[in-house]
Amino acid sequence: MTEAEASLEERLASVRARVDDAAREASRDAGAITTIVVTKFHPASLVRELALLGVRDIGENRHQDAAPKAAELRDLGLEWHFIGQLQSNKVRAVLEYAGTIHSVDRESLASAIESAGIPVEVFLQLNLTDDPARGGVAPGNLLALAERVLAAPSMLLRGVMAVAPLGEEPRSAFARVREASERLRGLAPTADALSMGMSGDFREAILEGATHLRIGTAITGNRPAAG
Ligand SMILES: *Cc1c(COP(=O)(O)O)cnc(C)c1O
Repeated sequence: MTEAEASLEERLASVRARVDDAAREASRDAGAITTIVVTKFHPASLVRELALLGVRDIGENRHQDAAPKAAELRDLGLEWHFIGQLQSNKVRAVLEYAGTIHSVDRESLASAIESAGIPVEVFLQLNLTDDPARGGVAPGNLLALAERVLAAPSMLLRGVMAVAPLGEEPRSAFARVREASERLRGLAPTADALSMGMSGDFREAILEGATHLRIGTAITGNRPAAG
């Protein structure tokens, strides 16, 4: 059976098995790894199917797509993770449904979240490239941003998030994230979570300590064209 012919249930089961395998390889407890299923560009009906299969954590990267889905599916009590670049003027609306923001990458965004005064868990997104347009804080500015977040009572700092850059072995990119996480824990010992690992590189992420995987296409199948 090809990937395209497999059902949602089969793809989810296959990813879960591969997560278990990688955890075993890393001598880690798979139960301590959260798989966030990224449903961007997919309709609310697919999220509902995932919920029926036991998925609780949903990732979205664009507010205008996520908001109507979250509203339609409010009855399911899902945990919505915002994983995309976020404009400060959208923060209040995103906090209506998202309990976690993985993409805090600048002090102005942290200030906007603080001003909203709504409790939220946050990850600091680390930029592993030299291109500021990729999103994420430069490694040298990570601790200053962390101090800003720690000073805001409505934000619970969970840890670091990153996307492995093209053109670098994912394992070495994720090792850099783990080192940044160790520095962060010097300042904030409980901010020990690592949001990293996507469809093509979640095994390497697990081997470097990922606690939150963000997996889209390996579970959902190919995304419909961007709307
Ligand atoms: C789309 C997306 C993912 C999931 O990517 P896949 O390759 O489909 O698994 C993970 N993280 C972020 C930030 C994304 O935008």
